[in-house]
Amino acid sequence: MPTVAEIITHLHHHAPPHLRMEGDPHGLLVGDADAEVSRLVVSLDVTPAVAKHAAETGAQLIIAHHPLIYQPLKRVVANEPHPGGVVLSCIRAGIAVACAHTNWDVAERGINDVLAELLGLADTKPVQVTYHDPIVNLVVFASEERRWRVWDAMVGAGAGHIPGSLYDRCAFWGTGTGTFRPMEGANPQIGAVGVSAFVTENRIETVMPSHLVPAVLAAVRAAHGYEEVAHQIVPLTNTGKEYGIGRVGTLAETITGGELLARVQTALDFDAVRMVGDSGKPVRTVAVGGGACAFLLSDAIRHGADALVTSDVRHHEYVDAESRGILLLDAGHAQTETPGTRRLSELLAAALPGVAVDFL
Ligand SMILES: [Zn+2]
Repeated sequence: MPTVAEIITHLHHHAPPHLRMEGDPHGLLVGDADAEVSRLVVSLDVTPAVAKHAAETGAQLIIAHHPLIYQPLKRVVANEPHPGGVVLSCIRAGIAVACAHTNWDVAERGINDVLAELLGLADTKPVQVTYHDPIVNLVVFASEERRWRVWDAMVGAGAGHIPGSLYDRCAFWGTGTGTFRPMEGANPQIGAVGVSAFVTENRIETVMPSHLVPAVLAAVRAAHGYEEVAHQIVPLTNTGKEYGIGRVGTLAETITGGELLARVQTALDFDAVRMVGDSGKPVRTVAVGGGACAFLLSDAIRHGADALVTSDVRHHEYVDAESRGILLLDAGHAQTETPGTRRLSELLAAALPGVAVDFL
């Protein structure tokens, strides 16, 4: 049975924490990382009803999109409303609680990608870039004997692939002579203390997103065999992949605002979608933002969007959109984020064959 910590590793594979907005809670919020999990509940929120369902079905972990603890809690007291009372009932029932909030909004295949997919948008990109993944060049020197083992370990930790590229295991290899002299106290794999060694070595040069460097270096050290691993980390000015909030893309054909409204209602199975603007306006480029993303309006206009589909729209935002000629649709907070949360439960279920996964 996997532990809570192992499941959170899978969660972070899909929703990398470094993509979250600054200060946003992520990962384990309540419970024991070492507890074993046979049943998992995935939900948009950890409501009292979700916590009750988890307790009744014997689940040991709830993963929610919205963080159960968002602001510091002043009280954790029985029979009180969300969130303090829910925190206590989860602790009493031995249920851990984790979340993937803005990291799952931003992530590939996350909330916003699913929303764009449901509306039939193609060639999508973030409406607002929030994270620019820096690329580094890592150079490692390995002996002839260990080079394949070292390279496989590097690739296993994510080196040799730039997100978005269709090529992996990319590197440049060169062969040369490495030299070193072990000093007093050293325990060299090759050579002897006080004697210069000359060894045929491979220079393995590869690229990766900078956030992977610690994991790749740990893998190299485990596979390398040398007491000290010679390596160089070289920052590059090459542009890495851009991640961000919302998606803007194009429909397969031009439709009217009224048709877009109907499409959103059908796609999200929600009749109460509200739209401001001319229902006869031709629509081809559409921006989406799951949850409260009316703040993306100016960026959506900059990308040439004819409409922005989001939720929690306030009066002045409708007025702003109408005056700027862009359609603004309020499609419900839960309605715009539930499909992406369901997708997360499907991805976790596929990665965890021994764990029963409920989506609420
Ligand atoms: Zn939300």
